[in-house]
Amino acid sequence: MQKFKEIIELCKKMLFPPHIKCIFCGAEIDSTDKHSTCEKCLKTLPLNTGKVCTRCGHPVYGASQYCLDCKGVPCDYEYARAPFIYEEQIKQIIHKFKYADARYLSYALSAYLADEYILNGFNCDVCIAVPLADKRLKQRGYNQADLLALDFTKHISIPVLDKVLIRIKETLPQAKQSGKNRAENLAGAFKVIDKKRIKGKNILLIDDIYTTGTTVKECSKVLVNGGAKAIYVLTVAHTAKEIVYDAPVTEKFG
Ligand SMILES: [Zn+2]
Ligand SMILES: [Zn+2]
Repeated sequence: MQKFKEIIELCKKMLFPPHIKCIFCGAEIDSTDKHSTCEKCLKTLPLNTGKVCTRCGHPVYGASQYCLDCKGVPCDYEYARAPFIYEEQIKQIIHKFKYADARYLSYALSAYLADEYILNGFNCDVCIAVPLADKRLKQRGYNQADLLALDFTKHISIPVLDKVLIRIKETLPQAKQSGKNRAENLAGAFKVIDKKRIKGKNILLIDDIYTTGTTVKECSKVLVNGGAKAIYVLTVAHTAKEIVYDAPVTEKFG
């Protein structure tokens, strides 16, 4: 009898698949869509699909391969990529994810990270989330980068290395710092506590937003010094700075 009930339930599910909601507008969508995004929203999202800086993934215009921040500047990570520009709906959804206890968003957001991983041909051995300061972890109750990393591995099967990279220094919120201060604020903030687990590994470093890159650069430096082979970075969004044309634009608009 129990078996019969289970078969009926399965048939019902196949005939009437459960519906879930679009994470951006709440419209009902097919539950098989791992991005939980309706078609209407997908068309209006600030996707980072144009030409980007080879190094950091910031949108670039003109002939240059690199943005002005990366040109000729040494860096400890190989490439950083983000599926979205940090604006409009993405700004709102990340805010909700970080500050409104909307932990459920990590599965859909990490599906976009997985797309970016495949699109850019990343081939990493392990994945590490950018650690959050203890004080902020206690206030928030969770580290959004941890959630993203854990859900990411449901889409791309690589192990998450937990408790390998830790934060050892309380720092001022990065958003309130500018330029050089950001780097000084974060210097010595991270430490690798288990070097054996990262030795010779290609590491995928995951965070929510790439602003100036100071945080991921500092983490990458510590990981490389700890024996990692190479670091690749994925964030949900990249903050786009002012548009700077480094070469004359020849197209005529309008
Ligand atoms: Zn929608
Ligand atoms: Zn760049």
